[in-house]
Amino acid sequence: MEEKPTLICSRCQLELEEAEAQFSYLNSSMRHKVKRCPSCGQVYLPESLVTGRMRELEDALEEK
Ligand SMILES: [Zn+2]
Repeated sequence: MEEKPTLICSRCQLELEEAEAQFSYLNSSMRHKVKRCPSCGQVYLPESLVTGRMRELEDALEEK
């Protein structure tokens, strides 16, 4: 079994909660579950998610 790392807001010292966020990128939008601070609203985005998504979109655009 793998334990999920707990993410803590560096500002508020609160545990981040799961929220659905909408992103806009190159005229398209997408939704994804992200970790968000319930107090200050700061969103934590894993770098792998961001770069992975961007690359997918860029590849799709280049195929045109
Ligand atoms: Zn916070």
